[in-house]
Amino acid sequence: MVQVDRCTGKRAKAEKRRTWGIGLESVPVAASIMIVEDEPAVAHGVQVVLEREGYGVSVIPTGEEAVTRFHEVAPDLVLLDVRLPGIDGFEVCRQLRRQTRVPILFLTARTDEVDKVVGLEIGADDYLVKPFSLRELTSRVKALLRRAYGELADVQATDTLRRGDLVIDLERRRVTRDGERIGLTTTEFDLLRHLAARPGRVFTRSQLLELVRDYDAAVDQDERTINVHISHIRDKIEADPDRPRYIRTVRGVGYAFAED
Ligand code: CA
Repeated sequence: MVQVDRCTGKRAKAEKRRTWGIGLESVPVAASIMIVEDEPAVAHGVQVVLEREGYGVSVIPTGEEAVTRFHEVAPDLVLLDVRLPGIDGFEVCRQLRRQTRVPILFLTARTDEVDKVVGLEIGADDYLVKPFSLRELTSRVKALLRRAYGELADVQATDTLRRGDLVIDLERRRVTRDGERIGLTTTEFDLLRHLAARPGRVFTRSQLLELVRDYDAAVDQDERTINVHISHIRDKIEADPDRPRYIRTVRGVGYAFAED
């Protein structure tokens, strides 16, 4: 069973490794990670660090959602907190194991939870005890991904995404088009990076809203907020914002970065 999943994982990764446009360097797409954690501060800290490593990250606040949205989120790895409102991490793990073999890394708060993770044989791959260092977390994540998907998991952050004449410098958080600097807000940059890192993948407005929610927490917002952000990004990066070349609208669903 593990073997089958490994094969699937590898195939999926290989397909993602495509070159965008002609004569441009290939940018491998990093693995995606689902964090199941109800404490926003912990989730956010982990998310920031993993995104800096180049991973795609989704934060899910409840166990129920983790189970019901697993296929929609389609993560390559799950970070699973033990103590969650509603069904706890142990039960989430059991339920996820009925549908997937993706690596599951438990985040535990106490040693008796560790005993349970290890003793119950519920299918966890590894665990970390809170408080853990973010460096330790990153190295565990890398190790698990490598174990599950082999060398194709070695997709650490590329410093730069190149899409057509658009260059997204992830480290300096700068975007240029045709060598000309484009000023983006923090939210706009994060949205653009998120979309551009996975050409062709469709993101719903609620997924994108989840991504930017932390920055705009004080603002009363709904999914239309995303339309506004996307419109601003298009005004800045597109030669003709009315006929966008980079960010496509997927009617009734959300947005996707153009594949070619
Ligand atoms: Ca918790």
